[in-house]
Amino acid sequence: MINIVLFGKPGAGKGTQAEFLKTKYNLTHLSTGDIFRFNIKNETDLGKLAKSYMDKGDLVPDEVTTKMLIEAVENNFDKDGFLFDGYPRTLSQSEALDAFLSKKETRLTATIALEADDKILIQRLLERGKTSGRPDDQDEEKIKNRYDEYNEKTAPLIEYYKKQGNFHAVNGMGSIEEITQRLTKVIDNL
Ligand code: ADP
Repeated sequence: MINIVLFGKPGAGKGTQAEFLKTKYNLTHLSTGDIFRFNIKNETDLGKLAKSYMDKGDLVPDEVTTKMLIEAVENNFDKDGFLFDGYPRTLSQSEALDAFLSKKETRLTATIALEADDKILIQRLLERGKTSGRPDDQDEEKIKNRYDEYNEKTAPLIEYYKKQGNFHAVNGMGSIEEITQRLTKVIDNL
């Protein structure tokens, strides 16, 4: 199996790149943001709970997110591996994922970070907000809160994965195709 965490700040392009990578490497793409939004649209209990956090740009509590992610992994063991997009976002989530994968006798192959300047990212999110309908993309305060959440809770994961020796940084600025090529080069060399 190859299991990859696609890592990056809000707007870094994880979802866009995941679309190419999942097909090329026959991976199950699990986007926690997408799963939450699906639940919100269908007005499930999980959706109602998640919405109260997401609309403010806060992270959904770890317990809820991890339970949901593990269920999604359990139900999708039919491909060559997983592409995790938006998970993990806290140290507790990273530890939960490692423990779960090890129980399944597999592990993360790599964590690949898409890097870009904050200024470019915030511009991308505001542009996306015009068409995505996402409340968390439409307001600069909420976007700022998502970055604060990232800096406080998610950025420490970089050290965690560096220590594991499987962290790779990729320049996330340029055309979509250029970035896909950079990611492909990293994955082909794993
Ligand atoms: P972004 O473009 O900000 O990376 P996502 O679509 O991945 O957006 O996530 C949107 C929102 O969903 C987050 O701001 C957060 O509220 C919630 N969310 C997604 N993944 C997680 C996670 N792993 N832990 C907690 N909350 C999450």
